Formats: sequence, C-alpha cells, structure tokens
Amino acid sequence: MEIPLKMAAIIPRIEQHEHAPAWQCALAQAIGSVDELLNLLQIDPGQYRGPTLAADFPLRVPHSFAARMEPGNIDDPLLRQVLPLPAEDLAAPGYLPDPLAEQEAIATPGLLHKYHGRALLTVTGACAIHCRYCFRRHFPYSDANPLAAHRDQALAYLRSHEEITEVILSGGDPLVLPDSRLRELAAQLAAIPHITTLRLHTRLPVVLPARVDGQLLEWTGNHPGQMVVVIHCNHPNEINADVVAALQRLAQAGVTLLNQSVLMKGINDRADTLKEMCESLFAAGVLPYYLHQLDRVQGAAHFEVSDARARELIQQLHGTLPGYLVPRLVREIPGLPGKWPLWPERDHTTGRQTIPGLI
Ligand SMILES: *Cc1c(COP(=O)(O)O)cnc(C)c1O
Ligand code: SF4
Repeated sequence: MEIPLKMAAIIPRIEQHEHAPAWQCALAQAIGSVDELLNLLQIDPGQYRGPTLAADFPLRVPHSFAARMEPGNIDDPLLRQVLPLPAEDLAAPGYLPDPLAEQEAIATPGLLHKYHGRALLTVTGACAIHCRYCFRRHFPYSDANPLAAHRDQALAYLRSHEEITEVILSGGDPLVLPDSRLRELAAQLAAIPHITTLRLHTRLPVVLPARVDGQLLEWTGNHPGQMVVVIHCNHPNEINADVVAALQRLAQAGVTLLNQSVLMKGINDRADTLKEMCESLFAAGVLPYYLHQLDRVQGAAHFEVSDARARELIQQLHGTLPGYLVPRLVREIPGLPGKWPLWPERDHTTGRQTIPGLI
C-alpha cells in the first residue's frame, strides 16, 4: 500500500476523457457522504454519530463495494472500514500522524527507498476508497502526485542504483491513474536493465473490480518481466463473483497475485473469518502475503488488536490451513530493513526468539 496529507489531495482528480472507461465513471460516482451511504443501507441516521475531526479525510466508497455491505447492519465489517466514528477523535499515546517516519525514506520526491532491492513510487495521492485505518490518512502528498513533477529525478535515481531490482507502484492507489499513464511509466521502468519486477499495491481489483478491463489487461499482459499485483482485502465478504472474475483475468494475463490485509478489531480478528478469507482468495488465484498489525496512525487506535491476540490467531490458522495459505503476521517498525515478522515471537532489537523451545 501505499505518507500525512492535505486531504483535498486525496480526492481523485480523475482525468475524464470523452470516452472514459466505465471504471472511471464508477469512480467519479463513488459515495462521498455518510448520509448517502446510510440511506443506501437503510440505516437510521439517528443511530449514527460522527467524529469532529474527519473533515479532511471524508467518507469515500464506490457503489460496487457498498453493495457488499449488509443493509441495516451498522456493525457490518465492510461498513466499519469506511464509516467515520467518534473514536477517531480520541488521542492515543504512540499514535502519530506519520507513524512509519516515511518522510525519512524519501530518496527523491515521490520515491521511497527504505528496503534493499526494492523502491516504492507514490504515483498518486488518490484512492477509490477511504479506509479509516489508513496510515496515509495524514500524509502531505502536497500536490496529489509528487512524482508527476519529479519523474526524471526518480528514474535517474533508479537507473543509478543497480541493486534495485523491483519497483513498487503505490500511492494512494496506482490503479486510479489512466492506463495510458501507467503503461508509459511501466515502459520507462522496463527499459532499466536491472529492474526485473514491477509490483502494484492496489485495492481497486477488490473495491472496484470493473477496473480490471481490457485496457489494463492489455498492458499488464504485455509487460516484459515479472509483474506482481498485491491486492488488499480484509474480509471474506469483500470477495464476490465480480472480484473473482477480475482476479482470474489478471492471473491469466500472467500476473502473480498476492494479498495483504490489516488486522482490525471487530472486523477480521477471528480465526474463522481469516480462514474463510484466505480460502476464498486462493480460489480466486491469490496467495495470502501479509497480515499487517495496524500502523499506529492518529485516529485509528480503536482498531488495534494486541500482538498476543494476533499471534494466537496465526497459531490457529496454522492449525487448520496449509502453510501456503497462512499470511505472514508483520508490523512495520521504523529503521528495520523490512517488515518485522511477529510470529513466531522474536525480540526486534536482538532478533532472538522469545518463545521457549524454539531455538
Ligand atoms: C512495504 C514496503 C516495501 C515492500 O516490502 P516487501 O516486504 O518486499 O513487501 C517496499 N518499500 C516500502 C517503503 C514499503 O513500505
Ligand atoms: S486504499 Fe490503501 S492507501 Fe487508500 S485509503 Fe485504503 S488503505 Fe489507504
């Protein structure tokens, strides 16, 4: 996925063309107010109270995703991911605007080089959906797309760092950009000999499966070199027939499909929910990759699940699923050379196992 933000910048500046693809129209028509969403779900607005601080990260959700929420249920796990709640106003110790200290990893504007061998381009500040737990909710993308004005600088950096073999397109969500722009950027990256893999971190195939259309498949299918798409699904109810079809088309185009989820209280913090999600993803050709412990971003503390509970859940999944369907439980800890695995338990300062009997 996907640094704190003047939120006006996160609202997609969708480039409308005369013959805009269907997905762009759907994106432009995304639900943008709590009233509209509650009305659609037949939930009495009297049941709802909002936060006072959400004005710069407004509700945003595509109709196709809202259609998978259960009408009348204010606790629906998909609704809870997007509905601003008063708990967001609460200050919690350790919850910061930029919990990952990403500002320090900026190599050139729009290019994060934090881990060996891979670099991440924030190609847009826009997303199709506003996830309340998102660590980028306060990110100062300043202009929606820092990369736009500094692309040559980023490409020069990538060319001169031969150890970088993989470039990750992130944001925001890279797939809100038109295919013409993505195809051009992909071609520029493919022309750099040491970059063998292009990776996209995107929530669009899940929240707006219509995004996976002929134009997208054409350039992904023809991309020279390895292509990896890491989708972002948190709950089995997100996977419907349209999502499965979109993922299968991507797989047929030769794309390696992985999923990352964020573990969240009251949404997916049950072993049976996670198991069902992993199995449904596999049926759609996707392997679970990461289960992230929540980044401690201001306004998201109410979603936190303790590390002890998270480890217990992974232990339970290992008891019932093949190893390849169990996601790696990780937390991002600033300054470490990669995401930190929380299971089995180790001390991140010494790297030593803290579970007796395991070395
Ligand atoms: C998560 C992340 C990556 C990718 O890490 P993997 O472990 O390879 O998935 C790369 N760069 C940044 C800045 C990241 O946050
Ligand atoms: S789609 Fe990803 S980057 Fe965008 S708000 Fe959701 S979690 Fe954040």
